[in-house]
Amino acid sequence: MPEQPSEKSVQKMRTFVEKYCEKSGTVTHPVEGIAEEVIQGLARYVDDIGRPLCPCRFYPDKEEEIKHRTWICACDDMQIYKYCHCLLFVNEEGLPITEHLPKDHEGLKIYGLVKDPTPDKGRALRHKAEERELDRKARPS
Ligand code: SF4
Repeated sequence: MPEQPSEKSVQKMRTFVEKYCEKSGTVTHPVEGIAEEVIQGLARYVDDIGRPLCPCRFYPDKEEEIKHRTWICACDDMQIYKYCHCLLFVNEEGLPITEHLPKDHEGLKIYGLVKDPTPDKGRALRHKAEERELDRKARPS
């Protein structure tokens, strides 16, 4: 992956982030540099493989990974639970929203309960939360 992403991809991701904040009722992290770092990582993936894979994870096979859309920004956790692992889409205090996460999700363990200030916004795939819960319960323990 190149060190510096192209200005075109950075601009594309900045615009996406701005619009997605509006749509999801979140803001970018208040500490300067955090959002920019994530945006640069997303833009590098756009340059490298054509899709904005989440830059906060490791992928043994990136080409294989983009066949699923699980970790393409905005990832499943964001669209289902409004939880951003990278602290890109957060509340005004800079915390990721954890209110909608399943009880055993790492986000709840790390940050505790963080309420969703705009529950009527975002979570386009919220119906999948229930599906996932049913799948989880059906699995043998
Ligand atoms: S955790 Fe999800 S929403 Fe946050 S930057 Fe990564 S892909 Fe995007």
